[in-house]
Amino acid sequence: MKLSGLTALITGAGSGLGEAVARHLASQGVRCGLVDLNDEGVNRVAADIDAQDIDTAAVTADVTDHDAVKSAVKVIEDTLGPIRIVVNCAGIAPGAKLVGRDGAHDLDLFRKTIDINLVGAFNVMRLAAERMVQYDEIDGERGVIINTASIAAWEGQIGQAAYAASKGGVASLTLPLSRELAKSAIRVMAIAPGIMETPMIAGMSDKVKDALVEKSLHPKRLGQPEEFAGLVAHICENAFLNGSTIRLDGAVRLS
Ligand code: NAD
Repeated sequence: MKLSGLTALITGAGSGLGEAVARHLASQGVRCGLVDLNDEGVNRVAADIDAQDIDTAAVTADVTDHDAVKSAVKVIEDTLGPIRIVVNCAGIAPGAKLVGRDGAHDLDLFRKTIDINLVGAFNVMRLAAERMVQYDEIDGERGVIINTASIAAWEGQIGQAAYAASKGGVASLTLPLSRELAKSAIRVMAIAPGIMETPMIAGMSDKVKDALVEKSLHPKRLGQPEEFAGLVAHICENAFLNGSTIRLDGAVRLS
């Protein structure tokens, strides 16, 4: 699909990777529907995009809330037109929590992580897809959905049980949903980033960051949000990419 003039729904758009995706797609002429729990974040990004004369809509919503997401989809559709691109970036990464040692990795935290990272992404996908299947095709496609997994799906570290399980789930549901939605000419892809320089990793010490960078093959640095956003745009434009999870990680190997 040619990007200019399309409408995107981007979750987690008030910070980090989602914000970079919104800014990049807007620079390509995409109308951006920004969804985030963080009111200040989405409104700040929306104001910047508005200033570039690209239509945008900011919606404060929790991705785990059925009614809130349904209404976000409607607001974006009504304001900006048919949603052709969905990018799921909303997520949380609880700090390392150990099982059995200090009781810190309790069920509530496990459930919350799965709820936001996995159930939330699914909630957005299914409510957006319900609308997307009804649109007319453009160049043989109705749209594309892009999820954010993580290399933790395969290389979870000590203390990351909930996060790794949630991201493994995101990677795993991408193929079956792409098979299901193929009959409606909608593609489903996922990106599995390595360590990206966003507010999510702000609490990590330089020592830990340096150790992670050391495990990259090349280049030896953290990933940049713009590199993630560039890959999102490429996936949207490349109609032959479907059903897979692409690692974006400088070939880091943590195991
Ligand atoms: P971030 O903390 O900068 O941004 C995440 C955004 O999600 C925030 O704006 C937050 O308000 C929003 N959010 C959280 N819970 C929400 C909810 N219930 N409803 C709506 N919005 C909610 O983090 P980021 O680094 O940009 O992460 C984006 C995605 O990328 C996440 O899914 C994360 O797990 C994944 N990821 C990040 C890295 C990394 O190193 N930064 C690596 C791999 C995967």
